[in-house]
Amino acid sequence: MKKGTAMDALLAEIERREGDLVSLTQELIRIPTLNPPGLHYRDICDLVGARMKAQGWDVRLIRAEGAIGDSESHPRWNVVCRLEGRGGPGDCVHFNGHHDVVTVGDGWTRDPFGGELAGGRVYGRGACDMKGGIATSIVAAEAFAALTPGFRGAIEISATADEESGGFGGVAYLAEKGFFDPDRVQHVIIPEPLNKDRICLGHRGVWWAEIETKGHIAHGSMPFLGDCAVRHMGAVLDEMARTLFPVLAGRRTDMPVVPEGARSSTMNLNSIHGGEPVQEADYTGLPSACVPDRCILTIDRRFLIEEDIAEVKAEVVAMMERIRAVRPDFRYEIRDLFEVLPTMTAQDAPVVRTVQDAVHRVLGKSAEFVVSPGTYDQKHIDRIGRLRNCIAYGPGILDLAHQPDEWIGVRDMVQSGQVMALALHDLLG
Ligand SMILES: [Zn+2]
Repeated sequence: MKKGTAMDALLAEIERREGDLVSLTQELIRIPTLNPPGLHYRDICDLVGARMKAQGWDVRLIRAEGAIGDSESHPRWNVVCRLEGRGGPGDCVHFNGHHDVVTVGDGWTRDPFGGELAGGRVYGRGACDMKGGIATSIVAAEAFAALTPGFRGAIEISATADEESGGFGGVAYLAEKGFFDPDRVQHVIIPEPLNKDRICLGHRGVWWAEIETKGHIAHGSMPFLGDCAVRHMGAVLDEMARTLFPVLAGRRTDMPVVPEGARSSTMNLNSIHGGEPVQEADYTGLPSACVPDRCILTIDRRFLIEEDIAEVKAEVVAMMERIRAVRPDFRYEIRDLFEVLPTMTAQDAPVVRTVQDAVHRVLGKSAEFVVSPGTYDQKHIDRIGRLRNCIAYGPGILDLAHQPDEWIGVRDMVQSGQVMALALHDLLG
């Protein structure tokens, strides 16, 4: 068969499977895999596993035993399905989607776990982020394998836990077990909802830390006998506003981060707490009179590929030292909570070029390259798996993620599935 003809047949085959794609998306949405706490993970893995097994795929159910979040009551289950082509050795293309969804929240007019189909959209929590993406990659891979059983190499589909809470019981665990080693998997596509015409190359870096200012407890009627940690923190906030935030805002990246506002360094003040703990809602008493002896600020610093994490941390330490130089008795501590290095797959990496060509063929326009302001599971594939040929590409509108009445467009899934199938054809055909 001529190449053009084979590609046309593949595009038509995805169209033909639209009904199957919709019903699979609905089935996935109807399993409420809420995280936290991590519900029904085994059920959704069984559903995906049973479907793939029935078509001759090798299916492995893997529990992330001992990973954070894993427990007997809420086990962290993952499923990895693999199909070898009959054409002998070749590359392996892996589609990875997270099967967990975030809390429902208020404001819904549809059943969040009903999977309702209306006006060319499938509704439900996780419809776009990212059960529609998982269904799309499954149907694309099945269609390709049905039409081209003699392909070279292998296809893998995984549905993994806990992306919404860091991915440690999901992709990080699999990466530690070698599932994303570059000699095993050569191309990874994560069908997160980034719009069907955009290719996400990576994400900014993250540093979460706690800054604690220290004081001295005393009776609240005689604050001069103590040392107020909250007032020390006030000095920190003031110094940040004067000397740190303007510098961060002025630091621009060449990474194509969307939205535009995230093309600078940013820092969110995630929480602040000083003094007595907040009491339970049913506590009817008054506070006691104390000078707070500690105050804790949690910072969420997002940094650019042009920045070095050691310098990012040193910049905050230098700011604290400036305060200490002018403020008597200023004592503090900084504790690291979490960090992720920025990552960006090269625009000429094989998986990028392939998907770029496929987008052009299916949608008749050039794909836009983007970088995510926040991280997703690519961080584990990159850092633990050491695999540099990874992108996020999938159907769904990013802004709908985590919103009420979340939906995925059927047309978007079909076209995105066509792009994925063409990418398989190009990489393995
Ligand atoms: Zn997601």
